Amino acid sequence: MIEKYEKYIGEHELDSIFKIAEKIKDLSILHVNSTKAGGGVAEILNRMVPLMKELGLNVDWKVIKGDSEFFNVTKSFHNALQNGVGNINEEHFKIYDKWQEINLTEIPLDYDIMFIHDPQPAGLIRFKKGGKWIWRCHIDISNPYPPVWNFLRKYISQYDSMIVSVPSFGRDDIEIPQFIIPPSIDPLSVKNRKIPQTTVSRILYKFGIDESKPLVTQVSRFDYAKDPLGVIQAYKLAKRHVDIQLLYVGSPATDDPEGEKVYNEVVKAAGDDKDIHLLMLPPYSDLEINAFQTASTVVMQKSIKEGFGLTVSEAMWKKKPVIGGNTGGIPLQVINGVTGFLVNSPQGASHYIIYLIRNEKIRKRLGKNAREHVRRNFLITRELRDYLMTIAYVSN
Ligand code: UDP
Repeated sequence: MIEKYEKYIGEHELDSIFKIAEKIKDLSILHVNSTKAGGGVAEILNRMVPLMKELGLNVDWKVIKGDSEFFNVTKSFHNALQNGVGNINEEHFKIYDKWQEINLTEIPLDYDIMFIHDPQPAGLIRFKKGGKWIWRCHIDISNPYPPVWNFLRKYISQYDSMIVSVPSFGRDDIEIPQFIIPPSIDPLSVKNRKIPQTTVSRILYKFGIDESKPLVTQVSRFDYAKDPLGVIQAYKLAKRHVDIQLLYVGSPATDDPEGEKVYNEVVKAAGDDKDIHLLMLPPYSDLEINAFQTASTVVMQKSIKEGFGLTVSEAMWKKKPVIGGNTGGIPLQVINGVTGFLVNSPQGASHYIIYLIRNEKIRKRLGKNAREHVRRNFLITRELRDYLMTIAYVSN
């Protein structure tokens, strides 16, 4: 199956992946994260782990367990790290540490290479016996709330290296080697491969979306960082000038306890506008997400904070112009005026919605550039190669 990527990346790139894999084939590798489904990390691991296996690597993936108390704590860490403010006390740190210990029964620690994703399982390093440990951080840690960062930093400093998604997330208060590896999408996955127009139409019909009216879409967990209320506001402002529909699609993630609360606020803000479609889909609704992104005239990712924003590359790969929040990993993908537009407010977003809805030629040009930008920079084969290189580096 890995040969199928050749048409996107060429044979040299593919050969280099096989060559590096050969060098590290005797190592055992474990990925550890905090959810099997929901959110970008699970999305990538669901594709990355099978690809690594296909290269003959000895790789496994384990998910830590936790109760709602633990995931409330880790979500508050997540928010504090990304927003620079928080309301955290000693009790939170104790709960975090307690669950690292509980997870000793879930997570084997005797692999040669341990990839620990994000803050939730980062404290497992306390129990390191051997091997090389890499902390793979997917969130924006450029301006963290100091009490939480200082707590985590004790652990992160014990790693052999860390990976961040965007250069500005690198830390100068940590001595270990740091790599910059942006995330990626899989062009062959159900979510991203080309699907027939009939499938798109069937799915739109099923969800009551009018195929004949321009569709503006945001696919995101119901999380304040994704600014769902700002999306509604931008749509409402634009709706005064152009006749559009808004689709906001989210799904629950087991490690994100805030979703329901945010969802209820969004429902309220949407009111009784028949052109607003709010969907809470089960995880693994990849075909539906593909259809929605494919059917969209414009895609939004109006995040206020964002690690990377896979949804941006997913839409760009489908040749959609994206209006993205000017934050975190979004500007790596959205080059203003070339592959989409960057915005800092609902007003800015509504301006570009109107502009794009009225300009088919511009939409087409941005969409074409967008796909090429993703092909060169954000396909899974590039991230796979970066991971293999990191493993080769730390194990040397
Ligand atoms: N996603 C999904 N269904 C939803 C909402 C999101 O499948 O209802 C997927 C989305 O397509 C993307 C991932 O979840 O692949 C979200 O990754 P992103 O990096 O955009 O954000 P995160 O949730 O990791 O903050």
